[in-house]
Amino acid sequence: MPVPSADMELLNARLPLADGGGLFRLTVRDGVWVAVEPQAGPVESPDHVPIAALGIDRLGAAPRLDLEGRVLLPGFVDAHMHLDKAYSLPHVRNRSGTLLEAIANYRAAAPAFAKETIRDRIVMAALRAASYGSATLRSHLDVPVHLGRDVAMRTIEAALEARELVSGAVDIQYFPMYFYEPSAERELTEFAAETLRMGVDGVGGAPHLTPDPAAGIGWAFRMAAAFDRPIDLHTDESDDPAVKTIDIYCDYVRRSGYGGRATAGHLCSLAAMDHREAERLMAKMAEAGVAAVTLPAVNLYLQGRGDRGNVRRGVTRVRELAEAGVPVAAASDNIQDPFHPFGRGDMLQIGLMTAYAAHMAGEEDIAEVLRMLTHIPAAIAGVPDYGIAPGNPARFVAIDAHSAEELFQELPAGRWVYNKSRWTCVSEWTRQWADSAPFVPASRP
Ligand SMILES: [Zn+2]
Repeated sequence: MPVPSADMELLNARLPLADGGGLFRLTVRDGVWVAVEPQAGPVESPDHVPIAALGIDRLGAAPRLDLEGRVLLPGFVDAHMHLDKAYSLPHVRNRSGTLLEAIANYRAAAPAFAKETIRDRIVMAALRAASYGSATLRSHLDVPVHLGRDVAMRTIEAALEARELVSGAVDIQYFPMYFYEPSAERELTEFAAETLRMGVDGVGGAPHLTPDPAAGIGWAFRMAAAFDRPIDLHTDESDDPAVKTIDIYCDYVRRSGYGGRATAGHLCSLAAMDHREAERLMAKMAEAGVAAVTLPAVNLYLQGRGDRGNVRRGVTRVRELAEAGVPVAAASDNIQDPFHPFGRGDMLQIGLMTAYAAHMAGEEDIAEVLRMLTHIPAAIAGVPDYGIAPGNPARFVAIDAHSAEELFQELPAGRWVYNKSRWTCVSEWTRQWADSAPFVPASRP
C-alpha cells in the first residue's frame, strides 16, 4: 500500500550529483522539495528516525528521517525499454543470439499473446523498475502493422491499460516502432494516427531494418510534425560500418527544426566504423541536436555474433559522443526476452554495464554515469521540473550505499522509493548467518 507522507524532513542524505557531493538536510512539503541545505558534516538528532528501522507501513508516519549518510538520487529515468516484450523469454527463445533471430521469433510468437498477457508483462516490468528507483520509463512498442493490424492494436491497448494500472507508482511514455513499407504507407499512416490520438507519446521506429530507410525516416518526421510529438528511432543497430542512417536522421532533424526532440538509440555501427567518419557523424549529431541512448546490456549480448577472435562488442562510442557534445543516456532496452535474456529494469545494473563497456570507471567518471541514468535521460524524455531542487516534485530513491562508487560496487538491494507525494516501495535484504561469525566485520574495515 502506498504510504502518504507529503511533508517530511530528511537528515544526513548524501547527494553525489550536488555541489560538493556531501551530506544534506532536505525538506518536502506537499510532495515538493522546499529546502535543500548542505550540512557541514554528519548531524546527530534524537528526533530523526533511522530510515532503515522502518518498513513501508511506518515510513509515512515518521516525518523526520535520518538517512545516516546514504545516497539519495532523483528517480531514475529509463529512456529506452521494451516493456511489452519483458519476461517473454520462456515462450520465445533465441538460439543464435542475433538481433534478426530475436525479431523473427518474437514476430512469430506475437499473434498468440493475449492482450492481458502483454498488459501483465508491462505492469510487472514497470513495477519492478519502479521498485529499483525508476520514476519515468520510456517504452518502445512492437507494432508490426504489415503483419496484422489486430496484433499491433492489441499491444497498444494493453500498453495504455497497463500505464493506467501503474500510474500511482511510475510514469510511462510510449513510442510505437512503426515499420515503414512504401507499399503499405496508407495503412501505416492511419494506424499511427489512431494510436497517437489514443495517447501514445511519440513516433518510434527502426529505419535501418526497413526496405527504404530514407523514406521511413521521412515518413516518421511527417507523422511527428503532424502531431507535434518527439521522435525516437532505433538507429543503426548493426555491426556493419556502412550502415549509417544517422546521417539522414540528422539531415531531417536540421531541416524540420527537431533539434532537442530527436533521440537515436543504439548507434552500434558508429563503434564499428572508421574513426574519422564516426567523428564526422558525432559532430553532426551534436550540431543537429540529436540525443543518444546507449543500451550496453542488450548490445553486448546481440552484436558481434558473426565475429571470431576480435569480436565487436556493439556498444556505441559513449565517451566520444559525450565529448562531441551529444547528450548520452544509458537505458535498459530489453528485459528477459529473446533480445536479452538477463536484466531486471535496475538502472544501477545498467550504470555498471555502462561503466565497464565504455571504460568509465574512474572516480570522476562515476558522476557522469549517474547523470546518464538521471538528468540526461530526464532532459531527453522531457520530464518537467526534474531533480532535487526547491520547487521540483520530490521523486527520489534512497539507496543503501554511502558513496557514489559503492552504488556500483554493491548494487545495493536496500532502496527506499518516494514518488507522487508518498513512499511507494521499500526493498531490503537480510543476511542470516547460521552462527555468529566473528570473522565477518560488522562494518567496513
Ligand atoms: Zn530497443
